[in-house]
Amino acid sequence: MKTSRLKIAIQKSGRLNEDTLKILKECGISIENGSDQLKASASNFPVEVLFLRNSDIPQYLSDGVADIAIIGENTLIEKKPELEVLEYLGFSKCRLSIAFPKGEKYEGIKSLNGKKIATSYSNTLKRYLEKNQVQAELHEISGSVEIAPNIGLADAICDLVSSGSTLFKNGLTEQEVILTSQACLAVSPAISDENQQILDKLLFRLRSVLKARKSKYILLNAPNNKIEAISKILPVLKSPTVLPLAEEGWSSIHSVIDKDKFWEVIDELKENGAEGILIVPIEKMVL
Ligand code: AMP
Repeated sequence: MKTSRLKIAIQKSGRLNEDTLKILKECGISIENGSDQLKASASNFPVEVLFLRNSDIPQYLSDGVADIAIIGENTLIEKKPELEVLEYLGFSKCRLSIAFPKGEKYEGIKSLNGKKIATSYSNTLKRYLEKNQVQAELHEISGSVEIAPNIGLADAICDLVSSGSTLFKNGLTEQEVILTSQACLAVSPAISDENQQILDKLLFRLRSVLKARKSKYILLNAPNNKIEAISKILPVLKSPTVLPLAEEGWSSIHSVIDKDKFWEVIDELKENGAEGILIVPIEKMVL
């Protein structure tokens, strides 16, 4: 009997591809053939990876050709906003923004009235303009949107921004953020019960990886009379592990800490007698 395989659509090449393969690998899914083929099976987990054009992925999900996809939320919202996102993955962060030529007067969203805006995201922009009761003319182009004002094609643009350097280089100023986006895991409404079970296993792994990415393991030494104060500073999962040191009156305290909180608490830990502080990466967190 043929065993069922969960079909995962990912970007064939481009910005999302590398981080997508990396997170799948961290979930224990090794894909042998790389991205030079259209599809590849994992040897150690019942999944088949489909390497597709980014902009085609929402349609394949809708049709049930793929069961799940790892895709930029911006593409999903543009093409198939009704599809369900199961998890946000924390990479490929960007925003969809409206930008005007530098120095041009901008007095809020109403300044867009009567303007010609070049974009590859016309559905998302149309919805945004309608919501804000703005009448503008949209000019749909598929790439190099940022040069449109320079060549007289449009008054403004609506495009993806991450660092802002492309806008800067083209003499544009970001005026309105209409959407923030990151890579996400979206699911097809047509997924079978069998593949849903495989997806549940994958989601469990994925969430363990994501939790671990957000956390660090912290080890420190402290005098015993400071254990209580230090434990209160550490935003711990449960209670910290406290182990006696060979030196009388001292203990080693171990805990898990939010990676973004570490620098906030470090001074407080030192003031409360913590010494020999070590911060170690965590590979997986199964709670
Ligand atoms: P690509 O087809 O390789 O250009 O990848 C496009 C996807 O990468 C977009 O749909 C976004 O989800 C994501 N992305 C992240 N930052 C940016 C950016 N500054 N410009 C374009 N795409 C970005």
